[in-house]
Amino acid sequence: MQKPIYLDCHSTTPVDQRVLDAMLPYFTEAFGNPSSTSHAYGWEAEAGVKQAREIIANAINASPEEIIFTSGATEANNLAIKGVAEAYFSQGQHIITVATEHRAVLDPCQYLESLGFDITYLPVKEDGLIDLEELKNAIRPDTILVSVMVANNEIGVIQPIAEIGRICHEKEVLFHTDAAQAIAKIPLDVQGMNIDLMSLTAHKVYGPKGIGALYVRRRNPRVRLASQIQGGGQERGIRSGTLYPPQIVGFGKAVELGLEERDTEAERQKQLRDRAWQEFSQLEGVHLNGHPEQRLPGNLNISVEGVDGTALILGLQPVIAVSSGSACSSQSTEPSHVITALGRPKALAQASVRFGLGRFTTSEAIDQAIEQTVTTIHSLRKANAVQV
Ligand SMILES: *Cc1c(COP(=O)(O)O)cnc(C)c1O
Repeated sequence: MQKPIYLDCHSTTPVDQRVLDAMLPYFTEAFGNPSSTSHAYGWEAEAGVKQAREIIANAINASPEEIIFTSGATEANNLAIKGVAEAYFSQGQHIITVATEHRAVLDPCQYLESLGFDITYLPVKEDGLIDLEELKNAIRPDTILVSVMVANNEIGVIQPIAEIGRICHEKEVLFHTDAAQAIAKIPLDVQGMNIDLMSLTAHKVYGPKGIGALYVRRRNPRVRLASQIQGGGQERGIRSGTLYPPQIVGFGKAVELGLEERDTEAERQKQLRDRAWQEFSQLEGVHLNGHPEQRLPGNLNISVEGVDGTALILGLQPVIAVSSGSACSSQSTEPSHVITALGRPKALAQASVRFGLGRFTTSEAIDQAIEQTVTTIHSLRKANAVQV
C-alpha cells in the first residue's frame, strides 16, 4: 500500500536519521545508568545526558540544572501546573490559562478545579491571540500561576510571550508556557521573556517520542515545585525514575539540528505554506483559521464552507495525511475547541483541516496537496448541490 504524503507534523514528526545515529550507541555499548557514579558505564551514560541537557538549556537561555527530563510535554505540563498548585496553594488558589490550550494543560486545570482551585479560561480574539488587557485584569492577589502556550498545535498561532512574561513578572505571578510546538522552531529565551516554567517535547522536532523536559527557574524567582512522581530522587527529586539516555541524547541532537536549520527551514516552509493558502484563498468560502502572520511557518489551518468535515478528511486521506483539530481529539466528531474558541460557527469548526508542514515536506508534495484539496472541495460541493 502506498502511504499518503505526510502533512501532520503538529501531531508528530519522524526521527531524523542523524538523531537516530546519535541515539543508537546508548542502547547497547553505552547502556549504563547515568545515576551509577561508581563505574565507567554510568559515567559514559551520564556524559551523554549532560551534553544533551546543556544543548537544551542553551536553546532556551537557561542553565542545565534548570532542565528536568520528563516523558514528554504532557507530563511536563502536569508537573508544572499541579506542582505549582500544590507548592503554592497556601498563597492562593487561582490559576489563569487560555481556552485554546492543549488538553494537557486544560485537563490538569480542570482536575485542580475539582479540588477547589479557581481557574480562569481567557478567551481569544478572532485571530487566536489573547487580549493582554484582559490578562492584566484577570490577575488577582490570589493568582499563583499563568499558563499560556507559545504556539498553538492546531492553528499555529504564536502568543506574545515576552509581553505576557513582562505582565506576570510585574504582578509577581509565576508564568508557565507550553512550548511543545515552538522549541527549535521559533526563538525562545526564558530570561528575556520572563518565563518561569516551560514544557518541551522531542517528537515534534524530529526527535523520539516519550521524552521531553520541564524548564524550572532557579533564581529571580526560585520556583518551588511539588514532585508528582516520587522515588529514587533523580532530577533533583522533582522527577524520579531512571533516566533514559538514548531518548535524552536524541532529544539533544534533535534540538541541536533544529536550531542549526531553524531559519532556513522556517523560510522554506513558509513559502510552501503561503503557496497553498494562495491557491485555497481563491476558492469561495474557504477561511484561514488563526492570525495570518503571527503563526508557525509550517502551519496552515482552513475551514471550508458547504462541506462535511469528516467527508473532507476522508476525501483527502488517499493522497495526504492531515487531520482536523488535534490528533488527540480526532476520534471524536465534536468540533475542535480551538476553532470554536475563534468564534467560528459549529459547521465551520467541524469542516476544518490542519496542514502541518515539516523538514521533509517537498515542493512536489505541496503541489499534490493543493490539487487534492481543491478537487475534493469541488466534488463534495457538487455532490451536495445534487442532493439539494
Ligand atoms: C504535542 C503537544 C503536547 C503533548 O506532548 P507529548 O510530548 O506528546 O506529551 C502538549 N502540548 C502541545 C502544544 C503539543 O503540541
